Amino acid sequence: MSARIDVQIQGFGLMGRLLCWRLKKAGLRVAWTDPRPASAAGWVAAAMLAPKAEAVLSSPAIYEMGSAALPLWQVWLGELGGIQHGFTGTLVVSHPQDQALMGDFHQRSQSEPCQVGDLEPALAGRFGQGLWLSGEGYLDNQALMSRLAELTGDDEGQAQADILVDCTGAAAELPGLRAVRGEVARLHAPEVTLTRPVRLLHPRYPLYIVPRPNGRYVVGATEIESRDDSPVSVQSALELLSAAHSLHPGFAEARIESLQVGLRPAFTDNEPHLTWQGNRLSINGLYRHGFMIGPVLAERAVREIKAHLGGRHAH
Ligand SMILES: Cc1cc2nc3c(=O)[nH]c(=O)nc-3n(C[C@H](O)[C@H](O)[C@H](O)COP(=O)(O)OP(=O)(O)OC[C@H]3O[C@@H](n4cnc5c(N)ncnc54)[C@H](O)[C@@H]3O)c2cc1C
Repeated sequence: MSARIDVQIQGFGLMGRLLCWRLKKAGLRVAWTDPRPASAAGWVAAAMLAPKAEAVLSSPAIYEMGSAALPLWQVWLGELGGIQHGFTGTLVVSHPQDQALMGDFHQRSQSEPCQVGDLEPALAGRFGQGLWLSGEGYLDNQALMSRLAELTGDDEGQAQADILVDCTGAAAELPGLRAVRGEVARLHAPEVTLTRPVRLLHPRYPLYIVPRPNGRYVVGATEIESRDDSPVSVQSALELLSAAHSLHPGFAEARIESLQVGLRPAFTDNEPHLTWQGNRLSINGLYRHGFMIGPVLAERAVREIKAHLGGRHAH
């Protein structure tokens, strides 16, 4: 790649891919580099689009971005085609001894009481009343990452560019940026039928299970303040798998297809930062919300990049 281009993107993880796709659609000339694209947190994530559930722990700004991204995702998933997703809400359950956690979650979230078995018949008889967060969604993160690579894979390379965008996630050397280790198990459990993300409230092992195509599930996730990206520990695997089994005994016969680790990039305020230094834009700190807020950040970045280029991007 030798001709001068508009934007060089460093990092082909979730944000790099989304941005590359959107910039190309806007008519800009783009290239990307990434020495280890398979190491992105974007490959590991459960990819829940859950602003109401996350609002219990995160700021109103994250809730606003996550809510604004939901309709954008519906349009973008239509454009991308073929990526499993759902927008039938999140179900929150707890074991009887943890009912106090449910009361607390209900008070702190926009959730509605529901009968668990009405929403997920596979859990009827095991859980009575639960909480439902309407409108929330999820998508198949690996299918999305692959589809975006199909659309932008030819743009790999380095060229003279007017703007450099840093999307290097947890590897970026930015003041205040830390990594938060997250571990997940990917299971094949054809005996279990869950149709939407289910969150299990638990004092020590809170857990979520998110559907993937053909009887597959992502079970996650640990949240450890560490930059260690070595393989999943025995303790974490035991916690994830026993919590899944306590949700539905059918997980006993599931096959463990992989145990994965990813590093979530986070600033001290746990909010994303888009910052310019001359012709260099950094987009980072997506923490545990990259999928949930990604479209809003990508749209903002495209607007700012176009403004920065002025009239020069009309090719
Ligand atoms: C276990 C887990 C569960 C998650 N679940 C959810 C969820 O349910 N919902 C949600 O919204 N979010 C979730 N996330 C968060 C989401 O995955 C991240 O917010 C998102 O992936 C961050 O995107 P990113 O592009 O900044 O970083 P990444 O996706 O990590 O990509 C960074 C890329 O930069 C590359 N890179 C590094 N150094 C360089 C360099 N010098 N030059 C070029 N490239 C470089 C890396 O190889 C990598 O490919 C989860 C994350 C984890 C780990």
